[in-house]
Amino acid sequence: MSALPDPGRALVVGLAKSGRAAAMLLRDLGWDVVAVDSAAVEASDLVSAGIDVRAPSDEPVACDLVVRSPGVPREFAPLAAAYAAGTPVWSEIELASRTMPNPIMGITGTNGKTTTTELLAHVLNEGGVHAVACGNVGTPMAALVGQVAGDTWLVAECSSFQLEDIPTFHPHAAVLLNITPDHMDRYPDFEAYRQAKLNLFANQGPHDLAIVAAGMQAAGAAPTRRVVASGPPGPDAVSWAEGGLHVRGLGLVAPWSEIPLLGAHNRENVMAAAAMAAHAGLGAEEIARGLATFPGVPHRLEVVGTADGVTFVNDSKATNPAAAIAALGAYPQRVRLIAGGSSKDTPFDDFARAASAAVVHAYLIGETAPQIARAFEGEHVASSLLPDLATAVSRAAADASPGDVVLLAPACASFDQFAGYTHRGEVFREAAREAGAR
Ligand code: ADP
Repeated sequence: MSALPDPGRALVVGLAKSGRAAAMLLRDLGWDVVAVDSAAVEASDLVSAGIDVRAPSDEPVACDLVVRSPGVPREFAPLAAAYAAGTPVWSEIELASRTMPNPIMGITGTNGKTTTTELLAHVLNEGGVHAVACGNVGTPMAALVGQVAGDTWLVAECSSFQLEDIPTFHPHAAVLLNITPDHMDRYPDFEAYRQAKLNLFANQGPHDLAIVAAGMQAAGAAPTRRVVASGPPGPDAVSWAEGGLHVRGLGLVAPWSEIPLLGAHNRENVMAAAAMAAHAGLGAEEIARGLATFPGVPHRLEVVGTADGVTFVNDSKATNPAAAIAALGAYPQRVRLIAGGSSKDTPFDDFARAASAAVVHAYLIGETAPQIARAFEGEHVASSLLPDLATAVSRAAADASPGDVVLLAPACASFDQFAGYTHRGEVFREAAREAGAR
């Protein structure tokens, strides 16, 4: 744990969950805190806690430290001014990790972060090792200061934005699950996005564990282990070989049949979680028990129910093409796919190719619907443009025959028609229930 400087004046930029938690933490630590967001936000709780919440403004703020929320782009004027002035700028996880003695597991990747984070926290707790999921999944790390015992593992989901500005943040075990284009509206190019993700490993030491998917390199001092999706267990690998999941040093942890998460993509998540649980000291049996009892995460391949032999699956969290491709991979049978939403400037060619394997019809909604329809046409996947999600579900349900899967895997963000992916998933659930799914 690296030291915090003596209290001075801090600026917190961005007042969503993690910014608010950072502001309160700094205040508790004796800092004089100024806070600003690019939009007007309700922050009476912060004001009554003595935090100077400023109206949105491009004015620079003189300060000794800036804590930046993940949603705030580097170009936001007060932040850009701090970079230009050479003021230290920290991510909220940098601040929190300097304040807490706890061991940390860090999880990043384009897709699979939340699943792996929740799964690992579940496996550790089931195995008797106290752990709490935090970061991007819900509770900001800074909100846990003073709330958890010092030996509790912090299992932190880290977005690429949180991994910028982390001069000392140091996970004892870290995984980069995968990396494919996403957030291209926020990064100048793919390489900049990749570098942000690789930062997760930058401060690790030789006793730490770095896990990457096969074919990737971790840049840091920790020994790297790879997850290998198939093939015999290697000397430094977690692998998913014939018979089941193998972890180095533990041997066969569990046969396939005892791990309920569906799809090849979830194997990646399972392998990473198992290797990290082993690093925290769990044995094969304990890991197997945790994997077998994991209830899954809502909005990720969540089976809502069936009606007349048709299964309705909510994968609203598939907010980019790679995630939606993974979801398609879990269902080799006839799929009626619901996709589309707001654009993140990602191409849809690979998505169209993946859809051509099992999608019998695509029901497209939102801003990107025409673009996806064009890509699908190129791969001879039939599609219709629908005005909204409820209509898409009822059309798909009406068209479906027994054995079909109606799958919401949008490949896009949701903000054109919804408050967020959870809202979109809830609308899907409700429409599926209207169609008789139980
Ligand atoms: P994240 O937190 O990174 O967005 P989630 O665990 O919430 O990841 O999963 C988001 C979506 O990505 C899921 O709905 C699923 O379709 C897909 N997904 C999950 N794990 C993986 C993986 N390892 N590789 C590719 N896609 C995945």
